[in-house]
Amino acid sequence: MSVVDDKIEITGHAPIQTWFGVGGGADLYAKPASIDVLRRCLAEHETVRVLGDGANLLVDDGGVDGLVVDLDTAAFRSVEVDAASGRVVAGAGANLPNLVNQTVRAGLAGLEVLAGIPASVGGAVVMNAGGKFGEIADSVRAVDGLDREGEQVRLPRDEIDFGYRRSGLNDLVVTSVEFALEPGDPGTVRDRLKECMAYKKHTQPLAADSAGCCFKNPTLADDLPDIGAGGSRVSAGLLIDRAGCKGLRVGGAEVSGEHANFIVTHDGACARDVITLMDLIAARVADRFGVALGREVVVWERSR
Ligand SMILES: Cc1cc2nc3c(=O)[nH]c(=O)nc-3n(C[C@H](O)[C@H](O)[C@H](O)COP(=O)(O)OP(=O)(O)OC[C@H]3O[C@@H](n4cnc5c(N)ncnc54)[C@H](O)[C@@H]3O)c2cc1C
Repeated sequence: MSVVDDKIEITGHAPIQTWFGVGGGADLYAKPASIDVLRRCLAEHETVRVLGDGANLLVDDGGVDGLVVDLDTAAFRSVEVDAASGRVVAGAGANLPNLVNQTVRAGLAGLEVLAGIPASVGGAVVMNAGGKFGEIADSVRAVDGLDREGEQVRLPRDEIDFGYRRSGLNDLVVTSVEFALEPGDPGTVRDRLKECMAYKKHTQPLAADSAGCCFKNPTLADDLPDIGAGGSRVSAGLLIDRAGCKGLRVGGAEVSGEHANFIVTHDGACARDVITLMDLIAARVADRFGVALGREVVVWERSR
């Protein structure tokens, strides 16, 4: 079913593409062609979920109610790069790896630390994507978006509550992001990009179907021998590995043997397999170490 309502084209029962490659679809799905159409989506639908690149997302097998908006349209994919000043403005639907390459080619430093992270610009900012070498918040100057009432909002960096894999921007539909990058030598920035990419390829199963790390790295309440001191943030992957979960499997979902914080999906897997496996991992880590793991992966389920 496809209904053209003035300029909002809404598709019924549409699949939602995610990097896990499993899960249900959207009851209603739209790719807004402009910010005005996005505003109308917000005005006319009580529940609106924003889809980025689907790289950190698991959709339950029964799909989701409400409207899913996908900003992968020309209106939200534009990118402006000023190599002289380092000012970069990217639409929320722009592809992050492409933006990283474009800024590195222009000799701008900052985003190369995000090498190999699949994302839309909007999704990367909302999740504060990052890793060993840095996070996107380090390069953000301001974020533009619409609040749930459709009002235009501009938030400078110091008004955004960025933290580890979080931004506090959950009530905003991010429409574009302004970055302040550092003009530098293209060769040096390219070498740094290669270094970040090589580390990622060496440590993570990038070719498999997954959503990257399933759990956030927890901060320990107390000392854990051979793991870390109380108050320190430790690797969730290490805890999952030490709890004996590598290779653990539920249906078609499996804990990667390469990186224990990655769940990879095989043919025939469903979202419920991944959810059950995440619950099992969390229970084993809690039993073994008394540490409660919090999910990094966002799970969409029906609200009724
Ligand atoms: C192979 C692989 C490796 C990965 N490695 C890393 C890594 O090293 N570091 C890291 O941090 N992450 C990593 N991830 C996870 C993922 O890349 C990031 O979390 C990324 O930021 C997700 O962006 P997305 O556009 O795909 O968002 P989605 O998965 O589509 O959405 C994630 C959340 O953001 C919200 N959202 C998306 N766009 C918007 C918007 N415009 N406005 C408001 N809300 C929005 C969604 O509603 C959802 O709640 C990896 C994933 C994979 C598959």
